[in-house]
Amino acid sequence: MSGIYLHIPFCKQACSYCDFYFVTRQELREQYVERLLQEIRNYRDTDYTEEPVQTIYFGGGTPSRLGVKQIDAILAELQRVFNVQASEITLEMNPDDVTADYLSGLKQAGLTRASMGVQSFQPELLEFMHRAHNRDEALQCLELLSASKFQSFTADLIYGNPNQTAEQLARDIDLLLQFDPPHISAYSLTVEPRTRLGKQVELGRINPPEDDIVADQFALLNEQLKPHGIHRYEVSNYSKPGMEAVHNSSYWSHENYLGLGPGAHSFWWDEKPRRWQNVADINHYCSSEDVAGETEQLSMQELAEERIMMGLRTKKGITETELKSRYGYSLNEKQWGYLQKKQDEGRLTLKGSDFALTETGLVIADAIILDLITLH
Ligand code: SF4
Repeated sequence: MSGIYLHIPFCKQACSYCDFYFVTRQELREQYVERLLQEIRNYRDTDYTEEPVQTIYFGGGTPSRLGVKQIDAILAELQRVFNVQASEITLEMNPDDVTADYLSGLKQAGLTRASMGVQSFQPELLEFMHRAHNRDEALQCLELLSASKFQSFTADLIYGNPNQTAEQLARDIDLLLQFDPPHISAYSLTVEPRTRLGKQVELGRINPPEDDIVADQFALLNEQLKPHGIHRYEVSNYSKPGMEAVHNSSYWSHENYLGLGPGAHSFWWDEKPRRWQNVADINHYCSSEDVAGETEQLSMQELAEERIMMGLRTKKGITETELKSRYGYSLNEKQWGYLQKKQDEGRLTLKGSDFALTETGLVIADAIILDLITLH
């Protein structure tokens, strides 16, 4: 089973924290869609089309900058070229693009899941993040979404903003819960050097919050969502039972996926596991036949470490049996000792060859993962 990711790089404006590949010029949209259709057709009759496609994901950028007809054309081309048996087709959208007609058009085109970039309902935070939408648009799009035929949807929140208080986050969660979301992604704001926020932090104009403030907000999310039957299943992802995102989960377990569009990553493991990224430049993408960057061959050691990294960020955790059979990787004595120590500290559970981080372990997941990997 494989997944297809389509990168739609258009955004209305640059959010202050974002280092994804995007452009704010909109005039290339038609040309871009034509080129994307061509990139899909280039896969015709290749081995990549033999595996059934289980998930399709329109990410960005802002995929809702495209019209329903354009999304429809992309899906139709995918159907013609690939063996599409998708149980999940997701499109990321921003609140200021969404209307009732747009949602029903997408549903008719075959989308099964909507992903709404809310981030916050607090006007001062939306302004700080330089988001294109305001509080009313965020509320209105969720109303439209609840009234639409999308049973599966998710909303994104961002926490850990400089000066963001726990009360502000609690209010955001409360407001979101009014719309009974089956899935929520909540990301702690990261300061990326090449962004406006990164520059301001570098110049000392803004101070990122202390780690313990961010850790408290991380815990708050779980406390507030749990009573509503929405559980954390990965560091940044929460859902009602059975509503977990399939597409993202397949990244975490090294399923095959193809990334189309500028800057998109692909991972494919047939005889040899490899990864490549399309050149992150829309002008190059629209004018060149050759859009794939260099292919990186991945060693079993690298893959095993990635699997540990991604697996330990999930509630399900990981099992040494899988590490051995898929990657030929066994944990050594020092690593077992470390896992035992983390279990004693209440940060990890260890059952036979299975291990997973607890809530208090997930707060410092990155540090634990790094320790564990470097002990090998
Ligand atoms: S809308 Fe999304 S992709 Fe575009 S700039 Fe903002 S965060 Fe980045």
